[in-house]
Formats: sequence, C-alpha cells, structure tokens
Amino acid sequence: VLYELQFTSAVEVLMSYWPHVKKAVGASEKIFEYVDRKPDTPPDGSLAPQTLKGHVQFKNITFAYPKRPDTDVLKNISFELKPGQITALVGPSGSGKSTIVSLLERFYQPKKSGEILLDQNPLVKYKDQYLHEKISVVSQEPVLFARSVRENIKYGKENASDEEMRAAAKLANADDFIDSLPKGYDTDAGEKGGQVSGGQKQRIAIARALIQKPQILVLDDATSSLDTESEHRVRATLIELKNCTVLLISHRLSGVENADHIIFLREGEVAEEGNDEELRAKNGLYAEFVKQQNTSIHRNTEDVTNSEMG
Ligand code: ATP
Repeated sequence: VLYELQFTSAVEVLMSYWPHVKKAVGASEKIFEYVDRKPDTPPDGSLAPQTLKGHVQFKNITFAYPKRPDTDVLKNISFELKPGQITALVGPSGSGKSTIVSLLERFYQPKKSGEILLDQNPLVKYKDQYLHEKISVVSQEPVLFARSVRENIKYGKENASDEEMRAAAKLANADDFIDSLPKGYDTDAGEKGGQVSGGQKQRIAIARALIQKPQILVLDDATSSLDTESEHRVRATLIELKNCTVLLISHRLSGVENADHIIFLREGEVAEEGNDEELRAKNGLYAEFVKQQNTSIHRNTEDVTNSEMG
C-alpha cells in the first residue's frame, strides 16, 4: 500500500510538472530555468467550505519567480473569472499565461504585491486537498499512466463507479472511441501501448478532469490535438457546464471566439479584454491575432500563428 501511495504521489508530482518539462525540452534556452524550478507553495490552509461558487479574482498581482526576483513576469495584473463563464487567456509566448495557472494552482505565492481571492477569501487560506478537488487542470500533453483507460479516468475521483466514468467519457467525447479500442475501457493507455493518439489522450484527460466535477476547470491548450469535430463537441460540453468556471488557455482562435470573456496578455500585463466582437472592433492586438490566424489558415501551411503565439 505504501509503495502504491508513493508511486501515485510521485506520478502526481510528475504530472503537474509535465507541461513545464515539455516546454523546456521544446525550448532549449529555457531548460535551466525549468530544471531549477522549485515551487514556492504556501503553507497549507484550513478553509474548506461546503459549497464553492468558483469566483476567482486576481487583484493587482505583481509576480517574479523566486529564482529571478528582479524580473516581474506579471505586472500589477487584475482580472476575474466568473462562475458559469468561459474565460479565454491568449497572448504571445512568454506573456505569462502559464504563470497565472501556476499561481491559481498555488505552486507559487504572489509575494511582491496583490492577492488572489477565491469566493472573496484569500486563496492561501484554503486547504490544499480542497483546492486539488475543486480546481482541475488539463494540460496540452497530458500524461496517462501505463494502466487501463478505466483506471486513468477513475484516477480523477476515488471510488468512482463505471456509470460515472462513462458519463465523464461521454462529456469529453471519448466514449465512442474507447468502445472501439481492442479491449475497450480495459485497453492499456500507456505510452508503450501506442494505441491511443494525441487527441484521444487529451479526451481521456478531459474525462479524468470532468469525473471530478471540478468547480474550476483549466484547459491549458488541452484541445490542441483534437480534430475539429471533437473540439466542437468538447466546447459544447464546456458551455453546458453551466456553473463551472472555465479558464481556457489557447494559442488558436477556435474556441476563443466563443468565450464569454477574452483576456489578451502582453508582457505580463492585461493589454485588452472583452468578448470577441468587442475586441475585433477595437482593431488592436486581438484583431491582429485574428488576422494572423486567418492568414495562416488561408495559406494552409504550417500554423504560422501558433509558432508566433508560442
Ligand atoms: P507560452 O505561450 O510559451 O506557454 P506563457 O504565456 O505561458 O508562454 P509563461 O510560461 O507564464 O508564459 O512565462 C512568462 C515568463 O516567465 C517568461 O519570460 C518565462 O521565461 C518566465 N518563466 C516561466 N517559468 C519560469 C520559472 N520557473 N523561473 C523563472 N522564469 C520563468
């Protein structure tokens, strides 16, 4: 049992770091930065209210990583995430999108200035385990365990039933393809099996997040490998999660357009915010982003904007 526990927590830690490890490998100049990465988590809090609305406020946050205290990565940033709304965070590579997610997950503390509030209470006051249950983050390249699809989905909720598992898989638009796998839900989802594509992995990871019924769902470019139809279905699911607070981090326009609120980050500052229509009309950075995306789609070449946007 001890081994199992240790294994699980080690894998959990690995999973939480994976996006950063992946990025480091992709951008060699960043490698040392990430290898050096030591989270600066605050001491555990005690708050664990019965109900949570999921209202998040970043208030005047200025943040620098402990290793680089003189470089402000977020500069006096304020915004809110409202329950029942999809908020999209877009902006060039390095503008601070992932840093915001790390702060929300409480890997770091915004020590320089400002505070993060969750339902009007400081985020630091909540219990770790409680936040873990209420906030679910799906990353771009989720790591699945070398175990069955069933175990991978049920990992999101202790003692989940098969019915709950299937319901979550349906919401993630994963149920059909899982049924068509050689051993269905008993198929090995691990790397070695090689039976699951990138997009299918993302859907399993989304199912794992949804089974948890989180109050706050963060999709960190988590639908980037989905084909258009799957992506639309997953988006439709998000819209149905009426009371959930959804934060969508995206390098692409699709999905962002339908968000209730869009925040355009640049160099750690909120450069523009509003909905798609408002921001297009502004003819500023977001409008330029839309133009670049359309051009790259039109050219039908490699996704130029993706690489420009990071
Ligand atoms: P991308 O679109 O490439 O994922 P992003 O908008 O998510 O970028 P962040 O990853 O939040 O941007 O990075 C914001 C800034 O913080 C960058 O300058 C980055 O180099 C720096 N940074 C990120 N992680 C660390 C770290 N652990 N230590 C020091 N600096 C970091």
